[in-house]
Amino acid sequence: MQKITSRFALTKISIDKDKCVDCHLCEKHCPMDIKLLSYKNEGKRNLSTECIICATCANVCPKDAIKLTMKFDFGNLIEELNYKS
Ligand code: SF4
Ligand code: SF4
Repeated sequence: MQKITSRFALTKISIDKDKCVDCHLCEKHCPMDIKLLSYKNEGKRNLSTECIICATCANVCPKDAIKLTMKFDFGNLIEELNYKS
């Protein structure tokens, strides 16, 4: 159920690419094993429906590059539909 609602969540984890130094600490500590840097490299927020917004990644980031941001998007729903078509 949470996976469905997370697609439409306004609040998601976002990495500031100008601050990030690719140390991978955020990924190493993520309890859900989310590949945060893949989203950053694609210029996207963390669109994973596995994210539980625990903020562990933000707390371990030595560059203060990770924030919770509010924005209107549909998660990866559009991409998934494109893959199926
Ligand atoms: S908020 Fe928690 S679950 Fe979500 S990406 Fe960060 S560490 Fe992983
Ligand atoms: S912990 Fe911070 S600086 Fe390190 S890779 Fe993650 S976002 Fe970038």
